[in-house]
Amino acid sequence: MPKFEYAPAPESRSIVDLKESYGLFIDGKFTDTADGRTFKTISPATEEVLAEVTEAGPQDVDRAVRAARTAYENSWGSISPGQRSKYLFRIARLVQERARELAVLESLDNGKPIRESRDVDIPLVAAHFFYHAGWADKLEYAGYGPDPSPLGVAGQVIPWNFPMLMLAWKIAPALACGNTVVLKPAETTPLTALAFAEICQQADLPPGVVNIVTGAGETGRALVEHPGIDKVAFTGSTEVGKQIAKACARSHKKNTLELGGKAANIVFEDAAIDQAVEGIVNGIFFNQGHVCCAGSRLLVQESVYDEVIGALKRRLTTLRLGDPLDKNTDVGAINSAAQLAKIRELSDIGEAEGAERWSPPCELPAHGFWFPPTIFTGVSQANRIAREEIFGPVLSVLTFRTPAEAVEKANNTPYGLSAGVWTEKGSLILWMAAQLKAGVVWANTFNRFDPASPYGGYKESGYGREGGRHGLEAYLDV
Ligand code: NDP
Repeated sequence: MPKFEYAPAPESRSIVDLKESYGLFIDGKFTDTADGRTFKTISPATEEVLAEVTEAGPQDVDRAVRAARTAYENSWGSISPGQRSKYLFRIARLVQERARELAVLESLDNGKPIRESRDVDIPLVAAHFFYHAGWADKLEYAGYGPDPSPLGVAGQVIPWNFPMLMLAWKIAPALACGNTVVLKPAETTPLTALAFAEICQQADLPPGVVNIVTGAGETGRALVEHPGIDKVAFTGSTEVGKQIAKACARSHKKNTLELGGKAANIVFEDAAIDQAVEGIVNGIFFNQGHVCCAGSRLLVQESVYDEVIGALKRRLTTLRLGDPLDKNTDVGAINSAAQLAKIRELSDIGEAEGAERWSPPCELPAHGFWFPPTIFTGVSQANRIAREEIFGPVLSVLTFRTPAEAVEKANNTPYGLSAGVWTEKGSLILWMAAQLKAGVVWANTFNRFDPASPYGGYKESGYGREGGRHGLEAYLDV
């Protein structure tokens, strides 16, 4: 089947007013660092330098934590819950007003297609602030007793795959519950967090309620280990999550960890195959597979294996890879050179271990970090590509004969963040959902998010929930 040729449809980047350099956002103002260190953030699609960003050291982190403590004690902790609501509604509306700018900025800094940042990330950011604005003055009815109190100052560390959405998942519930925050965005994607700092200024949020300290892993460590923090919220790798859990265990700090995943997306023989194929594509190629809950292990019932894999390969030949700012792009850039090296390494190991690799014909741009959508068939459970989080556009395909075998294979992982089930039988969906050790089980869909729905993991995927009534608990002293 000939592929459609699409004319380029680039979103203009003129809506973004990039500054040459950015300071740290502490106590309501952009400030310099104590020791003058900076780093550059680049566009992963072109390797162009976008801006210079400040690297916060321990003294800066200390300043930010003190500002958050003062704001907690003097303003945010004592204003009425209704007032907190008003600020959160204001932030949500400002995110909506600046949505196009934020989407372009996110795609520039992260490499994700504008279609996703525009239609998924930023609308969900606004939805999280609206949702939590609604809770702020109703916490006494949330089931935690008549007067649930905040914890104090939250130290929050987020990854690069959904930079602004992860910020919203962290900041919106923390503020709704009456806490103040110091947040560290990932080194490779700091720009939307800094735009959010401007939104806090526009919303007249009292100084110190939200503080943004940019930097790398050491800045994150200084933040989570700071004695002035009462609650740590982390999303990222299981390895760093374990270090943070250890550090918190030696202190009074409450913590929630949202870590890696190796989700099974399970297709039964009676599933609507075309619909399932769309779900498989969405499950692993959305956001270049940089998704902790990505459906990176496809389990197909043997009787429909040829049909599913044939349809999937045909569908992959229609995916368009390239400029993240082009509205027709389906697959954008890999976020960093380091992540690309990791995807390449694990894919090479997959081949060396005997799995069969397939990618559609696909031209990769000359500059930037790119990896084609890739499928591995003939994968065994012992292969590293079936066990380890690749965090890229790489799908490992396994087969099963019975529902019991599907459950056994799906649960055969140290992770447990999500799973997908494709079948027309409601009873099978309910049975599978009860058997699967995963925080979220999607049925005949994948990668659906809603601020009202709690999200989190089992086993090495972490603990605690974000979103919904359950997510509030992590920020309350209950
Ligand atoms: P990390 O866990 O290293 O990074 C997540 C965040 O933690 C970043 O802001 C990072 O800073 C910060 N950080 C790093 N080290 C420390 C520390 N010791 N104490 C406190 N904060 C720290 O993930 P990577 O970005 O290195 O990605 C590595 C792998 O992790 C990926 O290949 C993927 O498999 C997995 N991953 C999973 C995610 C998920 O959502 N489940 C998200 C991201 C990654 P900085 O980025 O500046 O180094």
